[in-house]
Amino acid sequence: MSSPESLMRKKFPKCPICKSAKGYVPSPFYPNVTCKSCTAEFILHDNSLELKSPSKFKWDEELLNRKYPFDFWNTLKAPQIAEKIILPIDYVGGSRYHRNPVIGYLRVRPDGFTYKSSEGSVHEMEVNISPNKLLGVEVIKANDLGSVLRGKRLLINTSNQYLLLKYKDQSNRKRQLILDFHGHEENASELIGLANRFMETK
Ligand SMILES: [Zn+2]
Repeated sequence: MSSPESLMRKKFPKCPICKSAKGYVPSPFYPNVTCKSCTAEFILHDNSLELKSPSKFKWDEELLNRKYPFDFWNTLKAPQIAEKIILPIDYVGGSRYHRNPVIGYLRVRPDGFTYKSSEGSVHEMEVNISPNKLLGVEVIKANDLGSVLRGKRLLINTSNQYLLLKYKDQSNRKRQLILDFHGHEENASELIGLANRFMETK
């Protein structure tokens, strides 16, 4: 009998979500399979395919747990990245170029991220990061910030977890911002998904 991965590969040589041809690995939840590239998890039925866990890009979350016919998956395209503002996102440290905490937001557009202070913020700040300069966004626990801050302290310690945004500046020097997303997991997850999309397409 064929394995679920080989059946999936036969039906979908390219992943329906990310179009990668890297193939699939078995999921701990047999007979689900996981895309090696985007980590979307699927279960193949006789006449349909069902997404059981979203990809790292997150836009596919709305397709979860429904059986869609094969044609649907074959013609599926990622939606355009729409302009949006994600807040509250406050700057709390990590960069020696920005020595004051800032109340602000992240604006996402197809041409990249902008971190900007809100009008009510005491200190002003604006950082523009184009997709090809973005190095990653991840959630980091306050306790694990030691290696990131290299002995320095946060400007203001407001949460037990933060977003670590890494990028390169105009001179290709590595920089980082530590941002407080105030526990809004859906904001963090959306930003990480968008960052993954930017990094995939550069
Ligand atoms: Zn994939």
